[in-house]
Amino acid sequence: MTTKPAGHADVVRALGRLCHEVREHEPLRKHVSFRIGGPADLLVVPRSREEVRAVASWLFAERVPFAVLGQGSNVLISDQGIRGIVLKIGKGLDRITLDGDRITAMAGAGLPHLARAAAGQGLAGLEFAAGIPASLGGAVVMNAGAHGHAMAEIVASARVLMPDGEHTMTPATLGYAYRTSVLQQRAAVVMEATLQLQRSTPDVVRRRTDEWLAHRAATQPIGPPSSGCIFRNPAGDHAGRLIDLAGGKGLQVGAAQVSEIHANYIVNTGEASAADVLALMHKVNALVAEKFGVELEPEIKLLGEFRVG
Ligand SMILES: Cc1cc2nc3c(=O)[nH]c(=O)nc-3n(C[C@H](O)[C@H](O)[C@H](O)COP(=O)(O)OP(=O)(O)OC[C@H]3O[C@@H](n4cnc5c(N)ncnc54)[C@H](O)[C@@H]3O)c2cc1C
Repeated sequence: MTTKPAGHADVVRALGRLCHEVREHEPLRKHVSFRIGGPADLLVVPRSREEVRAVASWLFAERVPFAVLGQGSNVLISDQGIRGIVLKIGKGLDRITLDGDRITAMAGAGLPHLARAAAGQGLAGLEFAAGIPASLGGAVVMNAGAHGHAMAEIVASARVLMPDGEHTMTPATLGYAYRTSVLQQRAAVVMEATLQLQRSTPDVVRRRTDEWLAHRAATQPIGPPSSGCIFRNPAGDHAGRLIDLAGGKGLQVGAAQVSEIHANYIVNTGEASAADVLALMHKVNALVAEKFGVELEPEIKLLGEFRVG
């Protein structure tokens, strides 16, 4: 990902014409739930569908690589930041439209907000998502899930910008599996998604939502900055269970610590660096590999440059 030195000023000028908010050297720690990470050369923050289309089309046409950020709740940004462009899909891109038992929302809509809106209409199916601090776009890409449910069950379609144009994708073409979709391997910007829910009553939906939120509050660290679960669950097991049994809880590198409440969470207890988190992930992985012979894979997305070892 290089826009510097060649053409950096041209890129800034071109994007400034297409989008009213373009920030240079923007600290990304302000934009992610971990509160960790260096600056992006350019953070582009479109506020309308037209701005997203214009920016993404230009970047694709000029073959300028870029990273997409939603709520930044599943990423670890390197301490050096990102040499290149980050497109943030958030505020202003959050309109929600109800149509019978379907909800269509723009990718920047917050999942908890969407879940509450559905509950208010007595629409069931999004209760699992009320405690996931995601944007709809990030949740579609990650196939976010909880309590035995996931986005794949409710996504009817998604509008996605790709280098060859705008596409309507369905669960079949999104290639959904556990915490993954084909969008994780493609240059793509999710613009909006339509969710198919089921008719119920506001009381029933709110009760289930509240039960699951209470369960989450009792079993996961809600307060300190984190990126949610760090590792994917290995087939038939839970990464948190393995880390706990291997003695990983409370393990610390710098200000990064394996949560005492949920062993698959790393929390930022102060000024943790991305290097601290990565070193801790290696330690945890080594512990689990030694005890159970299982190699854990990261669930969080590493953005920027990381030195291995
Ligand atoms: C306290 C906490 C609890 C969590 N609990 C859960 C949980 O229960 N279940 C669960 O599945 N996850 C959970 N997570 C992780 C996270 O919320 C999800 O993975 C979520 O789907 C990420 O959404 P986001 O908008 O924050 O995406 P980001 O973290 O910003 O991005 C994640 C990935 O999606 C891509 N992306 C984001 N938006 C778009 C877009 N519009 N177009 C194209 N690509 C995009 C990014 O490039 C990146 O690769 C938790 C995180 C935290 C901090």
